[in-house]
Amino acid sequence: MTTPEESFDLVVLGSGPGGQKAAIQGAKAGLRVAVVDRERNVGGACVYTGTIPSKTLREAALTLLAVKRSARFLECKLGEQTEVATLMTRLDEVLGAHTRFIRDYFDSNGITVYRGRGRLIDRNTIGIECVNGERFRIRAGIVVLATGSRPRNPPEVPVDHEAILDSDSILSMLYLPKSLTVLGGGVIATEYATIFSLLGVKVTMIDRGPRPLGFLDPELVDCFLNHFSEYGGRWMGERRLQSVEVGRLGEVVTTLESGERIVSEKMLCALGRSANVEGLGLTEVGIVQGKYGVIAVDGEYRTNIPNIYAVGDVIGPPALGSTSMEQGRRAVCHALGKHPGAPFEVVPIGIYSVPELASIGLTEAQVRERFGGALVGRAEFSEVARAHIAGQQKGLLKLVTGPQGGPLLGVHIVGEGATDLVHVGELAMLNGNDVSVFLENILNFPTFGEAYRIAALNLHNQLQVRREPARAVG
Ligand SMILES: Cc1cc2nc3c(=O)[nH]c(=O)nc-3n(C[C@H](O)[C@H](O)[C@H](O)COP(=O)(O)OP(=O)(O)OC[C@H]3O[C@@H](n4cnc5c(N)ncnc54)[C@H](O)[C@@H]3O)c2cc1C
Repeated sequence: MTTPEESFDLVVLGSGPGGQKAAIQGAKAGLRVAVVDRERNVGGACVYTGTIPSKTLREAALTLLAVKRSARFLECKLGEQTEVATLMTRLDEVLGAHTRFIRDYFDSNGITVYRGRGRLIDRNTIGIECVNGERFRIRAGIVVLATGSRPRNPPEVPVDHEAILDSDSILSMLYLPKSLTVLGGGVIATEYATIFSLLGVKVTMIDRGPRPLGFLDPELVDCFLNHFSEYGGRWMGERRLQSVEVGRLGEVVTTLESGERIVSEKMLCALGRSANVEGLGLTEVGIVQGKYGVIAVDGEYRTNIPNIYAVGDVIGPPALGSTSMEQGRRAVCHALGKHPGAPFEVVPIGIYSVPELASIGLTEAQVRERFGGALVGRAEFSEVARAHIAGQQKGLLKLVTGPQGGPLLGVHIVGEGATDLVHVGELAMLNGNDVSVFLENILNFPTFGEAYRIAALNLHNQLQVRREPARAVG
């Protein structure tokens, strides 16, 4: 005799940021909801291998930097054999608190959680395979696929999670290595490269592109590269890999097509991510996939099968925790026939390297190309009182408008607090404000936010000088 299949209104595969918000949205609307995740704890890559652990290690690097800055006369170095786990003393606490919070949230909203690998049997049936081999099925009216992504490790890089690590295994390294080669020039590569170089590791970053973070404003990237080299980091752009091998003593030997050879104690392979679609039953159910195997969705996050939605990293860029959450909420609103609000127009980018980088809207180059010119207001952090107080004078905030001024089209920041600061500009952009909003209203003083006022004045003055040279203000 088989057990009867339990039926739910909504079944979500994956409990990362995308899956969580989809499930909660459904439960709040009174649906019977189940979440299936193959991991022991809910939270997804965001909690266990991505956002939270990397930012916890970053905190350790920043603490070390702060100690060094405020006690320059002290010899302040990490010990020879510093354990990576020691640097993240609070990680267990942070993860525990996060997991408990998500679990309680699921419980208090009556969401059933299944631990096991889920797969689509047909458009309304999910098969679940538990770690102990037990298999059963549940029924679903609406399905949300939020199974996330994993590191993409190309065949020429033999990731063994010992000498050659990826972003899932990098923090399981026991001791801080003396040297680290980072493959890649994207967000994860730059974040880890700067964090480890601040911790005293000799870091070499290698990428095909001429510069890291090619999608960002070049001035921000320059500032990042200056800081990186100041802390002993080496950037090797426009290089192609010939081979990567682990030597007899466990060292990693990287040979480039240029003939250059880099030997390091460890390597981090950060060459992008692949969607977790294997074994999901997509082909069997007839779900269409897009480039690189991601699940193809429309503007409402619906696949070609009307009751099946997909959100988060599994649908591809921008692949952020922040966007995944909102996609989860929107998908379920759509399934319920509820209006989720106007589609989001702009996505803020936050890169937790040291220094922080953040950006929203069009870059200066994009504005020039589209509008035949651009006005740029700049505020160097060295002009901001709060930056002096905090000893963080290296930074820049750029406001970009069309050549005649008008609405704010882009905000680009490098420096302390950039990832928070960018939201002030985001709201101004969403409200269609021009830079006068920062001149005619009060901002706290002394704050890093004052940089908006300084940059706005700088931009405003350029406009005034053009229109009425005598009326420019100081
Ligand atoms: C090092 C690093 C740093 C990052 N930093 C940031 C940051 O600072 N800010 C930011 O916004 N984003 C950051 N991200 C990105 C962010 O972590 C992801 O965009 C986000 O986790 C994606 O959420 P998701 O819900 O799509 O999937 P995930 O968080 O990947 O969760 C998917 C879940 O689905 C489960 N699963 C997979 N297949 C199945 C299956 N068949 N059955 C059941 N369960 C399954 C997985 O086990 C996992 O628990 C970072 C990522 C990394 C790797």
